[in-house]
Amino acid sequence: MESEEDSYEDIPCSTENRKPMEGLFHSHLEERVRPYIDLIDSLRLIGIEDDLALPTIAVIGDQSSGKSSVLEALSGVALPRGSGIVTRCPLELKLRKIRGGVYWRAIISYNDEYIEFDDPSLVERHVETAQNKLAGEGVGICDDLITLEIMAPDVCDLTLIDLPGIARVPVKGQPEDIGYQIKNLIRKYIERDETINLVVVPCNVDIATTEALKMAQEVDPEGKRTLAILTKPDLVDRGTERNVLDIVRNQVIPLSKGYVIVKCRGQKQIDDRISLADATRVERDFFRRHEFFSCLLYEEKATVQCLATKLTQDLVDHIKKSLPLLSEQIKKQLWDLRKDLSLCEPGPPLDPQKRKAFFIDTLTQFNDKVNRLVSGEVVNEDNLFILIRTEFKAWKNHLDGTKQSYHTTVQNVINDYDYKHRGRELPGFSDYNVFEMVVKRLVIELKVPAIDTLRVIRDIIQKQLSDVCKACFLNYPFLQCVAMNKIDNIQSKQEEKVEQRIWEQFEMEQLVYTQDGIYFKALNEMHPGEPDKPSEDNHASLDSRNKYPEMLQAYYEIVVQRLADQVPMLIRYFMLKESVQLLCSEMLALMDGANVMEVLREESDSSRHRVDMQNRVDRLTIAQEKLSNFV
Ligand code: GDP
Ligand code: MG
Repeated sequence: MESEEDSYEDIPCSTENRKPMEGLFHSHLEERVRPYIDLIDSLRLIGIEDDLALPTIAVIGDQSSGKSSVLEALSGVALPRGSGIVTRCPLELKLRKIRGGVYWRAIISYNDEYIEFDDPSLVERHVETAQNKLAGEGVGICDDLITLEIMAPDVCDLTLIDLPGIARVPVKGQPEDIGYQIKNLIRKYIERDETINLVVVPCNVDIATTEALKMAQEVDPEGKRTLAILTKPDLVDRGTERNVLDIVRNQVIPLSKGYVIVKCRGQKQIDDRISLADATRVERDFFRRHEFFSCLLYEEKATVQCLATKLTQDLVDHIKKSLPLLSEQIKKQLWDLRKDLSLCEPGPPLDPQKRKAFFIDTLTQFNDKVNRLVSGEVVNEDNLFILIRTEFKAWKNHLDGTKQSYHTTVQNVINDYDYKHRGRELPGFSDYNVFEMVVKRLVIELKVPAIDTLRVIRDIIQKQLSDVCKACFLNYPFLQCVAMNKIDNIQSKQEEKVEQRIWEQFEMEQLVYTQDGIYFKALNEMHPGEPDKPSEDNHASLDSRNKYPEMLQAYYEIVVQRLADQVPMLIRYFMLKESVQLLCSEMLALMDGANVMEVLREESDSSRHRVDMQNRVDRLTIAQEKLSNFV
């Protein structure tokens, strides 16, 4: 039999690759398993791991039996290995296949540590550091789990657990009950139903006395999830080869899953930096040339590759078994989500075409609402028309309120004029210019209150439009902001226009004009029902002097009526009718060239929640479709 060293003589010593090493699962997986793994991949996206525990492969065995070596060969990830106690904490190796990338990335996490790295050759160092931190430097062990997640394009979705080896006798520095401690720790992992237990036994020890096998049989009496691995076939004691053959053929201690014999890298090959890929070829060569074991190649009971195939099959079986339940769960989740979704406000679709239509819809709804607002419908909490009518009424009241002081002023001016300027003429025949001036002066005083009315009403209208805007664009802060700005700009522009018109109106009032007919009518109405009432006063002078204030009063009445209508009409027309027309057309103009993704960006807890749910529904629906091909 060749010595370990001999068998590698013809193999060139390649340096350990920095690029990802190929896991054996990978090459073997493709045709048969890929569809299932793809399925699980897509299901993982929907957080399927909460529902479906993917099988974990735990390796148990004596110290230095070759556990880490087997895991390493399966995963393609170089782990700390060697003599003595090397694995001192449970190490969970999560392999995650990533799509569309070529890079390798790993995260090691334990306690509060979380370290990312992208160099495969650093795995060993990081694991050692982690073990030293958790279990202390030396030979102690620790229950705390180290998780090493590896994301690479060429690994298989699989979780492997490396466990400390079973020690019989404590070495120096280890507590008396170390064996008990380790067994407890191991049991925690191997008793889980979704764990496939790999019992690792070197060819050069008596399998019947192996503690690991006993433990595995304890937690899995039927052996449904126990697979035994014989390692170090190159170190088999001469003369015991036939025994080993019998064991592998399931003839000594029968297990329902049976045995596989593998040859991993020995210490020498590690020292010589034989790559894992090369080791695979070396292993095959070893078995092919082996005097006793070569037949096992054909019986499919030898090589790591064969082991990988068996495990893969287990993985697929597990997935297959879980699918009906999974399908049920997805159906239920979908049902619940759709119910919840139907209860919340519909949001913008994600599809660009549909989103555009939704956008147009949203704008149209807004325009409809503002149009209904100006046409007198109550669309907000407060009734717009009641509010502005109240203000118009106040304006009218103000105008009426000035009549008394107007009257007094006019009277005073006439008296004053007579007193100061009267010449030979009889009292009361004063100058028209004087009266005209009084009228002009008093009417112009109405300008400021008119403008005030405008301001108050602008505020009312702007608030109402803003309320509509907020209600219509509740979840779209961007759109809301755009609309608010438009409202403000348009209102300002229109307010300026109205102010200008009011100003012009008061300029025109300086003409002191009305149609004769209107004037006489007003004059007559000064004494309704007693047009030709004879004066009780016998003083002709006084009587005619009173006629002037009456005439001026009649004219003022006409001015008041004119302004009482004119100012509200200007305001209603420009601030309400025209401004809403402008707003609507500006809003519709947003449709051209707007980035609908951006414009309809949502921002509220409820919309976030809805988008979340929508995304889950989408993912679950895809998952359901995929599942339907399998179940
Ligand atoms: P663990 O303690 O069970 O994890 O064992 P390791 O995987 O660390 O292996 C212990 C030692 O045995 C290491 O030096 C490995 O290189 C070596 N080893 C593992 N498998 C084989 C094998 O098939 N043949 C030889 N010759 N050495 C092996
Ligand atoms: Mg180990």
